[in-house]
Amino acid sequence: MAASVLLLLICFSYFLYSFHFSLAVSSDSADAAQDVTVLIDAGHGGVDGGAAAGDGTEEKHINLQIARLLEQQLGAMGIRTAMTRTSDVSIHDSSAQTIREKKVSDIHNRMQLMEETENCIFVSIHQNKYSDSALSGTQVFYSPNTTASAQLAQTIQDSVQTLLQPENSREIEKSGSSIYLLYYAQKPAVLVECGFLSNAEDLRKLKDETYQKQLAFCIAAGILEYLNT
Ligand SMILES: [Zn+2]
Repeated sequence: MAASVLLLLICFSYFLYSFHFSLAVSSDSADAAQDVTVLIDAGHGGVDGGAAAGDGTEEKHINLQIARLLEQQLGAMGIRTAMTRTSDVSIHDSSAQTIREKKVSDIHNRMQLMEETENCIFVSIHQNKYSDSALSGTQVFYSPNTTASAQLAQTIQDSVQTLLQPENSREIEKSGSSIYLLYYAQKPAVLVECGFLSNAEDLRKLKDETYQKQLAFCIAAGILEYLNT
């Protein structure tokens, strides 16, 4: 409990620092930050639950909870946001019938939102799962198509590690074709694997609203840092 209070204090101090910093930047980059829309993508939804934890917790719910908190945090920082989904739905076309068709249509519609949202950066929220339950911690993946994607991934990874997960030594990773939205993105695009549903301690924390807020704050601070540089 004391640790989480301390962490919140650290987060708040960092926020004040970042806010002060954001006021101190040149008007050009401040304007640039104001023009950007962060398109927040809560992974999966509806028929597509994503990964499932041993206790039955579905990834899609944690993704949406963290995405909504991220929306709030960015809003408080004066950064414009949009969401690919705001409830437990798959955003497929009504013509899609099978689960496969729904998943394909859903991913195409998310891509279309990315393409249609002017001057946006794309931040997708997911949870990891692996056969080795020892693996834990946040890792950010980035689109291979723009150098800005790697820069954005790095500021988010650094922010999470510095503020929340000092023991996390993971490095950002370039997306292969298995992450469709990043692989084909033509805009700055990252995917945050917040933690591992297959790790007991990560799962406990990822289901905790206080931890979700801390994580959302760290991601938001990383985005703010990216926009200011
Ligand atoms: Zn996922």
